[in-house]
This record gives sequence, C-alpha cells and structure tokens, in this order.
Amino acid sequence: MRIALFGGTFDPVHLGHLAVARVAADRFKLDRVFFVPADIPPHKQKRKLTDFQHRFAMLALATAEDKRFVPSLLDAHTGHPNYSVETVRRLKSILGKSDRPYFLIGMDAFRDIQTWRKPVELLRECDFIVAARPGHSLGDVARSLPAALRPPEATLRALGKQQSGTITLPGATIYLLGELRERVSSTQIRATAHRPIKQLSRYVPQLVAEYIKKENLYGAGNSSADGGGAYRDKMLSLHRGHRQERS
Ligand code: ATP
Repeated sequence: MRIALFGGTFDPVHLGHLAVARVAADRFKLDRVFFVPADIPPHKQKRKLTDFQHRFAMLALATAEDKRFVPSLLDAHTGHPNYSVETVRRLKSILGKSDRPYFLIGMDAFRDIQTWRKPVELLRECDFIVAARPGHSLGDVARSLPAALRPPEATLRALGKQQSGTITLPGATIYLLGELRERVSSTQIRATAHRPIKQLSRYVPQLVAEYIKKENLYGAGNSSADGGGAYRDKMLSLHRGHRQERS
C-alpha cells in the first residue's frame, strides 16, 4: 500500500487540507492518507490549541467521504511534543515490508524544516510530497533543506522558479505539487468563525461548520441554549482527567 502521513494541528481542518490530500492521493496513487493531528505540536505552542478531542472529531467528519482518508491517533496522548521523525518511525514500525510511506506537507511548514528535530534523519525516512502555497517554487523547496542536504548554489539557481517537479538527492527525494493554490488557512477560519454557517462552509466541510457552531469553537456563537456546552467539555476531558488521576 502507498500511504501518506499528513500531520498538522488541524485547528480546524479545512478545504485546503482536503484539496492537498486529494491531489496528492490522485497523483501518487495513494491508498491511504493518514491525517495525524498533533496533540502537543512542538512549533505551535504560543497559542492555546483547541482540545485534541474536538480537532480529531472535526477530522473524522471531514474525512468521512473519501475512503482513502483516515483520521489517525498516531500522535495522541504521547505525553510529550510530537516530533515528526518519531511519528514517521512509529508509523513505519506498524507498516508491512511492501508498504511505501510518504510524508505530505504544505510549503509553509516545509520552509521551517531545518528547525525541526533531526531533519536530515526525517528526510531519509521517506519521500516527501510538498504542496505548494502561493508564491513558492522548487528553488524555495531546495533552499529550505538542512545545510547537509542542500544542493549547491548553481543547482538552486537552475531549479529557480519552477512551480512543480522533483528534487532527488542522496538522502532525500522531494516532490513539489504545483497545481495547488489554495489560500485558505485555519488562522483565517478561526478569525471568521462567528460568521453565518453558509459563509463558514465555503472554507470547511458543511458538517465541520455545523460542529464548530454547535460546540461554539473559536467564538463561533450559537452555543447550545441548554447549557450543555460546559457539560460536554467535561465529558470530552474525562479521558485526560482519568489519566492524570492515575499518574
Ligand atoms: P494555521 O493557519 O493555524 O497555521 P494551517 O492552515 O497551516 O494552520 P495546519 O494544521 O498547520 O493548518 O497544516 C497542516 C499541514 O497542511 C501543513 O503541512 C500545512 O503547510 C498544510 N496546509 C494547510 N493549509 C494549506 C493550504 N491551503 N495549501 C497547502 N498546504 C496547506
């Protein structure tokens, strides 16, 4: 099986994520795309994230329609920051010999890969599929590589402004998916969640828009008039509370 690991905070999942997964799955004939929400993302700790349970629930709703898409608990409740090199190794340890894993990532995240834990080792673990975001080229992909892998300046110049293609190096193979130019981001959705469901569902699947409203996420309003919101929050956090009690 050809499998992609698609990690992120997914706070919330949006149509851009789904477009990335769909284009990658079609192009690379992927049998499965695992959407792996980080419980404790090492790079996004400045802002308080929405509860993991809500982010996972939205992923389950968003991925229901495509049988290749799977919401994954690979990074759930590990108790420490989710480093991708460890997530990939965890995934590979449960795959069969004939399975081929890919790492699916957007260009804005790939740009920071040098700052990730063990980036050279991570790039060696599996091939990367990078989804372009507006304004990025194959040259930018190569420039983002850790110094130990980065091609010489002449090669970087030759890659220039190509909007798609492959970089093959000793120790890394990276494909740039150029046909994607989705501008939507989770930041944008969090900022506009108070708008009517009809507007919200231009950027997230309809069921996710309804869930955001129902659970009053991101200040979306519409929280249930019966006061059930606080009750549901407690139910959602039961697992975590239970764990803490035992530790
Ligand atoms: P935020 O706005 O909170 O930073 P985000 O929209 O970038 O969030 P993440 O959950 O951080 O969403 O992204 C998960 C992965 O999806 C990352 O690799 C990111 O680069 C990629 N991604 C997100 N949105 C897009 C998009 N519109 N086009 C291409 N890749 C995307």
